Amino acid sequence: MAILDFGTTLMDTDEIAKIVGAIPAYPGKISFARDVDALSRSLYKRAGSRYPSKTYTKLIILKLANLLLAQHAAYHRHSSILARPIQLLIDPANTCQLQCPGCVHSRTAAEMKKAGADNVFDWPDGNMAPETFDTIENQFVPYAFASVFFNYGEPLINKHFPDMVRQAGAYLNYTWTSTNLSLSFDVDDVVSSGLDLITLSIDGTSQQTLERYRQRAKWDLCLENMKKLVEAKRRLQSRIFICWQFLTFEHNLHEVSQALDLAKEIGIDCVHVARPFDVSSYDPDIKVAVSPYEGWHNFNPDQTRAGLVPKEQLAALEARSEKIDALFDETWEHRIQRFGIEEEESRAGGPTCNWLYQNITFDAAKRTMPCCGAPTTRNVHLAFGSLDQANVDVVNTKDAKLSRLFFGDRDAFHEKAKGSERVTYCANCPAPPPDQFDRETNLPVSLFYLDAGVLLTPESIGSLTKWSNAKTI
Ligand code: SF4
Repeated sequence: MAILDFGTTLMDTDEIAKIVGAIPAYPGKISFARDVDALSRSLYKRAGSRYPSKTYTKLIILKLANLLLAQHAAYHRHSSILARPIQLLIDPANTCQLQCPGCVHSRTAAEMKKAGADNVFDWPDGNMAPETFDTIENQFVPYAFASVFFNYGEPLINKHFPDMVRQAGAYLNYTWTSTNLSLSFDVDDVVSSGLDLITLSIDGTSQQTLERYRQRAKWDLCLENMKKLVEAKRRLQSRIFICWQFLTFEHNLHEVSQALDLAKEIGIDCVHVARPFDVSSYDPDIKVAVSPYEGWHNFNPDQTRAGLVPKEQLAALEARSEKIDALFDETWEHRIQRFGIEEEESRAGGPTCNWLYQNITFDAAKRTMPCCGAPTTRNVHLAFGSLDQANVDVVNTKDAKLSRLFFGDRDAFHEKAKGSERVTYCANCPAPPPDQFDRETNLPVSLFYLDAGVLLTPESIGSLTKWSNAKTI
């Protein structure tokens, strides 16, 4: 039976804060799912007609319910989880035309592979097919808050990329990509796709400097594309936010201030001067350096997401109303059976990795991974599953569950992993990251703009997003 009493009366108090506050008290997945189901019905009544449409209302409540379930699973360190990932990290292309040191596409990586080295990046080439993204849309996009369209490849190589952005935006996902911009592409198609943020990875203002790290990049093409993006943004009245990211090395420090001046002159919205990770093991001449300009330089602070979802996006949302109705009508209790989720005890209290509860990564070859790590031929088990596997819940593959268990209960992990040659990459993770929602795609901001004060108070946004008990390592 359900533990909290939602749905019998419309509550004056903040129901969301109440259910978050109750998470520590009961680890049971079925009882929590029942309460989330009751809460969803109550919120639907309470929202009335204050969101732009009924479809919008149902979608927001679906996302909120999913977020609560993710928080519940993370708190109790469950290994099999009902919640669908709240962030999708998608590589539209497993290919890149550049060869930056340290990357899976670097010259060193290619040479090592050719020489038959025993531990190289395991990274098949190719673009994500539209049908693959359709599968991601059907199974994951409605529940998520953000679709991040980059990992290791150059996303704009895939000509279907703008359509993928449209599909994710139709489900009110915050959409973000990052590009080296050193290629020809359909600028209008990208700008009109509804993309929220485009990061331009350009570390120089001259050919000689840029190509030291961005090997094979062409400065003239990057500059021309920057101007085209700004012009298209104005002409198409797009709200895309254009951010130039400048990674600092010893060889390019002298061009940082020029980049800031140029960005302002062209009309770029923001420059992020940042320190990259060390790649000297790939190229000893490339040395990371610190710039006095390090940080964010926002030249367009007046542009916010403003809570106004563009009308094209609302129309695309309404075109999916039948799907959203069906998702809203299915109870979470029913999904427990559909996904085959088992009950587990609470393992609350120990450290864990937030990626395992918030994110799923898809590469263009349909592989699923937990985070932004790159599988190597020794560590292919970082690829936890594949969208090709029929009737498999890729959120809860054997490797995904074992990885969560590694942090939740080390003895139980060793017992379950005994005799297996496959050791999850998470057990040897070199760099577990902090909560990934501390950047542009941050969850509190998404909730604030999507909800626009209808159901959520600052307190409930805080309780939904501060996973203070879901400690990172
Ligand atoms: S523990 Fe490391 S490898 Fe595993 S999901 Fe977290 S960051 Fe990725």
